Amino acid sequence: MLKHLSAAVLSLLPIAGLAQTPVPAEVGEPSSVEDIRAALFGGVPGDRWKEGLLFEGISPHPWLNSASNWFPGTEDVQPDEMRIIFMGTSPIIRPGQMNTSILVQLGNGENFLFDAGEGSVANINASNIALNEIDKIFITHLHVDHYNALPYIYVFGGWSGRWHNPLRVWGPSGRTPEYGTASMIEGMKQMVKWHTDAFSVFPVGQGHDIQVNEFDFADEGGVIYDENGVKIIHWQRSHAKDGASAYRLDWNDMCFVWTGDGRPNMRDVEYAKGCDVYVTETQTELVEISAGVAGVPPFLARYTIDTHHTPGYAAGYVANLIQPRMFMTTHMPFDPYLNEETVAEIREHYKGPYHFGAPDGITVNVTKEQIWVREGIIPDFPNNRAPQFNFANGQLRVPAPPTTREDIQNASVRETEIDPDLYYPEGYKPELLQAWPTGNRDLIVPVDQLPPAMQEGMGDTWRKRQANRETLGLE
Ligand SMILES: [Zn+2]
Ligand SMILES: [Zn+2]
Repeated sequence: MLKHLSAAVLSLLPIAGLAQTPVPAEVGEPSSVEDIRAALFGGVPGDRWKEGLLFEGISPHPWLNSASNWFPGTEDVQPDEMRIIFMGTSPIIRPGQMNTSILVQLGNGENFLFDAGEGSVANINASNIALNEIDKIFITHLHVDHYNALPYIYVFGGWSGRWHNPLRVWGPSGRTPEYGTASMIEGMKQMVKWHTDAFSVFPVGQGHDIQVNEFDFADEGGVIYDENGVKIIHWQRSHAKDGASAYRLDWNDMCFVWTGDGRPNMRDVEYAKGCDVYVTETQTELVEISAGVAGVPPFLARYTIDTHHTPGYAAGYVANLIQPRMFMTTHMPFDPYLNEETVAEIREHYKGPYHFGAPDGITVNVTKEQIWVREGIIPDFPNNRAPQFNFANGQLRVPAPPTTREDIQNASVRETEIDPDLYYPEGYKPELLQAWPTGNRDLIVPVDQLPPAMQEGMGDTWRKRQANRETLGLE
């Protein structure tokens, strides 16, 4: 085959291993200033005309490693920045779209998780965030797709280093106490009781403590969090049952709203007006087609939307009244047959900056000057980040486990364990560690006695938080 090609064609084929260094062009007289200006600035608007509908104030920040994609662990949150990552984006869980969860990271070093849908933990872990860095969770309402990861974050966050502070959970009251967030937490504690007792053979400290902050769902605009310059308020949503809330977070003259689920409502306009990033849920008006795709009668979707959710047209209508710097929709199936239609419906009323808060991993960098939205590249098989500790007092403190195996297990079952001498090859049997090495005493290690890799790895967030807070003049 090759022998039939002409020499001229062959010379165009790249030959493996023989890549040539490009030769510089011949040196010549520089072009005129006018020509250079015409070429470099021709065709772009500058201040002369507008280009596109989406990019008013939308451009990539200079510190981003890639303007196309966010790669976990490669960029630090800047001191004056708010970074938002969609950890779960759909009520129907599937690979690529876990149940709803939005992480907000602030330049002062704090993380706020809004909703904690099933599977979002996989994306949190893959985003190079340790579970003990997730200690403030705000639940919009108690449909399980919004809080089903909570049992896991509670027990595994406690296990993986949340030893020195409780898990803090905020959520609305219900029509009666049994339907409130505090009642759900009590039920959850009961559900995981075997687990927490079993994990008591590990360090616990405050790892099994939950501080529940149930607020009155009807207290419109009530302040539920006001610490370190961060303020969070809530208001009611119409979502078929009392006890569904929206949240607004304000910090550093920037604002984020997540409405949770609900019908379009003027309360959103009142409380979210002019907010920097306004996120709501949406259902595309394609009931007949969607019912056909799913092979189900359409009335169920129609009824669900009309009693619970925000149609695409309505999402755009509300966004137009709010006029955020960036409008986003989430809690939506990210399907090609829906996506263009969703945009069309949003655009019926709203012409400003808009992105999907889907699929999982969508990352939003926000400063007062710029907003940029990228696809996050979340790896399938990442390593977990080391637990993160505050080393301000120069020590790593590991609480003694409150329980031993002897306390919670019959000796007879241990006696049936197979003699390790039978399965370890000669020379490979470890010194077995079947009792906690420091007994019932806390282990306290001066940080400077930790191997450098552990000092680095487990103190990473704390060090960056300190540096950012110094930049912000906070300490
Ligand atoms: Zn939902
Ligand atoms: Zn819901």
